[in-house]
Amino acid sequence: MTEQTRSGLRELQRLDDAIVAAEKRVRELEHRLAEVERPAQDLDGEVGTTRNRLQEMRLEERRVELAGDEKADRMKKLEDRLQAVRNVREESAVSAEIDMVRRARESDEQEALSLLDQIRRLEDRLEEQSEALEEARTEVAPRRKELEAEREEALADTGRLKEERDAFAETLPADEIRLYDAIRVGGRRALAPLTEDGACGNCFTMIPPQIQNEIRHGSELIRCEGCGVILVAPLPEDLEPDPVPEAAADEAGDEAAADEVEVSESSEAEGAEGEAPEDPSA
Ligand SMILES: [Zn+2]
Repeated sequence: MTEQTRSGLRELQRLDDAIVAAEKRVRELEHRLAEVERPAQDLDGEVGTTRNRLQEMRLEERRVELAGDEKADRMKKLEDRLQAVRNVREESAVSAEIDMVRRARESDEQEALSLLDQIRRLEDRLEEQSEALEEARTEVAPRRKELEAEREEALADTGRLKEERDAFAETLPADEIRLYDAIRVGGRRALAPLTEDGACGNCFTMIPPQIQNEIRHGSELIRCEGCGVILVAPLPEDLEPDPVPEAAADEAGDEAAADEVEVSESSEAEGAEGEAPEDPSA
């Protein structure tokens, strides 16, 4: 029997990892777009607030003016009545009312003036804010366009990869897919190659030799007892040391294609390799 490389499930995981990466890219681009748009959005909010306030002030000013008109009418009527008074008592009563209405009218006029002044200032502010908004929009427009195009591209990538993934999954045995999908839940790694030492490539639990043998040559899907991933025979590229040595101690645990963040319990079994700075310079 040939070695079990599980090339189908490997390819499926490669596609799933690519989908995760593409979706992450979409999210990153959306986040960056939001950041680019924020200054203009803030200004837009300010313009809206000023515009509403201005609207309220204009209504208020209109209300005060109407009240003034009413009082002018009332004055006119009172003045007519003053011409027709029949005695001093009536005259002084009407005069007192005229005084009262006049004072109220003067107060309305003061209020109207003050409102007009505030309206003028708000109009100035609105103009400044609108200019700043326009400027901010013009300034970010090229960058925004760029990011939007990148986002569209990333979205298209995601869609394409998903289609490819689904079409590919249909070519694999249903029971393998079921198991794979059950383990893969939440983007977890579903498949890991054995390490050179015969440990699980995901959690580094040592795998007994006869099980290793079944993984390499048998047809059953075998899962790691430590972390549950489906174990597969390593391909040459699984055993190559990391081209970019990030963590010095990460030699045996070549994580190959799996870039996803996975908390792998650091091995007890393969601890011999780890560079342990046992040099207490005391
Ligand atoms: Zn494991």
